[in-house]
Amino acid sequence: MMTIMSSQFQPVLDRIASEIAGTPARGRPADYIPALASRDPRSFGMAVAEPDGTVYGVGDWREPFSTQSITKVFTLALDLAREGAELWEHVGREPSGNPFNSLIQLEYENGIPRNPFINAGALVVTDRLHSRTGDAAGELLRFLQAESDNPRLSFDAEVAASEARHGDRNAALAHFMASYGNIGNPVPELLDQYFRQCSITASCADLALATTFLARHGIRADGTRLLSRSQAKQVNAVMLTCGTYDAAGDFAYRVGLPGKSGVGGGIIAVVPGRCTLCVWSPGLDERGNSVAGVAALDRFTTLTGLSVF
Ligand code: GLU
Repeated sequence: MMTIMSSQFQPVLDRIASEIAGTPARGRPADYIPALASRDPRSFGMAVAEPDGTVYGVGDWREPFSTQSITKVFTLALDLAREGAELWEHVGREPSGNPFNSLIQLEYENGIPRNPFINAGALVVTDRLHSRTGDAAGELLRFLQAESDNPRLSFDAEVAASEARHGDRNAALAHFMASYGNIGNPVPELLDQYFRQCSITASCADLALATTFLARHGIRADGTRLLSRSQAKQVNAVMLTCGTYDAAGDFAYRVGLPGKSGVGGGIIAVVPGRCTLCVWSPGLDERGNSVAGVAALDRFTTLTGLSVF
């Protein structure tokens, strides 16, 4: 069994960045949200954070990007911390095998989304967090600011407005679930919360740090507990099985870590007890995952032997 010391993270990151720089195929930035389409697919950044807050990085690891669906991990954790297992009566925890914004399963599964990481499931989680806090997006932003120790993290009003203008499908999902009684807030209010949630801008360094509570088995940066050890395990497990759209099987096969991607080109990943990672490169494959991001995480676990398997 290979063991790696923390001091070896930096050379590993440097090696991965130079390998990625030599790879021509980078995918295409998401274009269904026009504000994301202009990012350069050759951008690449990667960060590793240790549970004590030490961060290593390479490339564009301090460059802010649109977090998008990565935020679904944090709203899930924030809601699970408040309501516990009752949440699972309103959203499942099985991979969907369908695209992240699919409507098909919802009808024959009576308005209960398959998991918290497809859009329908994330809308349910945000709705429930909003009912409990009165400001789900604000609660999320404050959590990310605190865990990353970066008070400058903020919403991107242009991205949120762009999503709202192109948000018919998310609106359809929310209205459809409301017809089954699985949404508590007025749909326009929920959509506003959800689009602002997805618009938060953060860097690889910020997100690797913000994810460390999952490597610390539920303990926040200030030492207080957000999730029980068992709940942290649950969130990691749902990330592993459902975190990378309908390519979660391939991601588990290649990377072997709980991970969550977003269409902004970021991916977070957790090595429980050891470290967290965030990689960003805006070019996506046809499933919506960052091409260089998955390749970099694949190389990380191969080079270090750090995976959950
Ligand atoms: N805001 C995006 C949407 O709802 C998130 C998509 C994603 O990153 O998966 O379409």
